[in-house]
Amino acid sequence: MEKITSFTIDHIKLQPGIYVSRKDTSAGTTVTTFDIRMTSPNEEPVMNTAEVHTLEHLGATFLRNHPHFKEKILYFGPMGCRTGFYLLLFGDYKSEEIVPLMSEMFAWMSEFDDEVPGASAKDCGNYLDMNLPMARFTARRFLTEVLTGISPDRLIYPE
Ligand SMILES: [Zn+2]
Repeated sequence: MEKITSFTIDHIKLQPGIYVSRKDTSAGTTVTTFDIRMTSPNEEPVMNTAEVHTLEHLGATFLRNHPHFKEKILYFGPMGCRTGFYLLLFGDYKSEEIVPLMSEMFAWMSEFDDEVPGASAKDCGNYLDMNLPMARFTARRFLTEVLTGISPDRLIYPE
């Protein structure tokens, strides 16, 4: 079988940032898939599943309630390697166009101090696997170290 496009990115050179992973068009509608890369692959520790899971619940809740973007959200969820998330938006976007949205989302998550939405046996498949303090910590780190004053090389995949 052929290697799929996302496996052709050089993960050794890849640093935390916001990248366009792919664009797909079907029946005249374009979907942009973003690579929200939070840790440097194969270089620094990956996030634990509990904080990844918490960020997934928080991020999906934030995005699907966003006044300007909620109609554009197709999917938000974690990468299996636990180094980041995929965000799928209806529309044709550049990575810099979602920096304000991501800054808003990670700021909100870094200060979230309430019951995690959907963290109940009825709403989730593994509701006890949550770590809100670590979710806040990783969100804050990504916001301050990557998103704030993001440099151009953190918006386009390395060659
Ligand atoms: Zn869940």
